[in-house]
Amino acid sequence: MKTPRQSTIDILNRLIAFDTTSRYSNLELIDWVVDFLAQRGVECQLLHDESGEKANLWATIGPKDVPGIMLSGHSDVVPVDGQDWSTDPFTMVEKDGKLFGRGTADMKGFIAICLSHVDDFLAQDLKVPVNLAISYDEEVGCLGGRQLAEMLRGLDPKPRLCVVGEPTMMGVVTGHKGKVSYRARIKGFECHSSLTHQGVNAVEYAAELITGIRALSREKRDHGPYDEAFDPPYTSIHVGVVHGGTALNIVPKDCHFDFEFRNLPADDTGEIFGRIEAQAAALTKEMQAIQPDTGISFEQISWFEGLETAEDAEATTLTKAFAQANASQKVSFGTEAGHYQGAGVPTVVCGPGDIGDAHKPDEYVGLKQIAAAEEFFDRMIDWARRG
Ligand SMILES: [Zn+2]
Repeated sequence: MKTPRQSTIDILNRLIAFDTTSRYSNLELIDWVVDFLAQRGVECQLLHDESGEKANLWATIGPKDVPGIMLSGHSDVVPVDGQDWSTDPFTMVEKDGKLFGRGTADMKGFIAICLSHVDDFLAQDLKVPVNLAISYDEEVGCLGGRQLAEMLRGLDPKPRLCVVGEPTMMGVVTGHKGKVSYRARIKGFECHSSLTHQGVNAVEYAAELITGIRALSREKRDHGPYDEAFDPPYTSIHVGVVHGGTALNIVPKDCHFDFEFRNLPADDTGEIFGRIEAQAAALTKEMQAIQPDTGISFEQISWFEGLETAEDAEATTLTKAFAQANASQKVSFGTEAGHYQGAGVPTVVCGPGDIGDAHKPDEYVGLKQIAAAEEFFDRMIDWARRG
């Protein structure tokens, strides 16, 4: 087994030191990458969010008029709050063949490998260009990825394929579930609890709607559709948070709850949500008959599109060849891949490290995984050189 390049380790060390927890700006990291690429004569395009505090980075190395191979990674990391780390999460530490630090697996390791190979991309007369895509806010609903996907929709030519380098132990992932989450707000009407007939009880209407959502979740469990490659093999629906009420002797005027679908890629979340909206509309009618200024509203919190890339798609067969993988897999965690696929770019997920080590204290990526990913890059560059 090869050992990783020192340049990859040095770059990863630098990337880990930027605290890019999703609640903070990612611009220091992005500016550092812009400088890194500018020193090599590579221009970047930045796509900022509305606040201007965050940005996606897009760069092309090689011919601009040929569909490229897009390498995608998110710059943000999950919080370390309340986690018991053995060392400072934002200072990378190498120990026992592992690199520890927040984001080493998910997924700055992949970004470091992309950057440490820029000189290789430039040294070759690439027939197929490489597109680097570094996004923001993946961990809080794929916000940057959605903006990048919008950009991809209008791009001509679009990338020929995309590899999202989320940690898969270098396995080739062609499918994952989608996820949509919502907050439901129930606006009732407050009064003394001895006069329940004059009030609109927000907690009770929320409970009725939650019961309806529960029935839908049972229906999915019992009647499918099913895809045995996933665990569970159906679209799951759940309510995870409820807040409502202030005191037992007050009919509560406010309640909100959060729920999510984790859908099979082929299952229509719009149809499922439409049925919940229809239930809410029926309840609202009843509520407004008591007090007009009441009702139920929904706000979408996050959304990941499901991923389903065909086994015989070029994105799958090429990535399998680069990874020297015999088979592809489906996984339960969501990524930006579904959005890029939805924008018309055939996409798979393949990257170093184990998702089981992500989001935890003492997150790490193994040196062997980095080395395996670098071998993937060597094969990919060889292919891109020949076209
Ligand atoms: Zn990730």
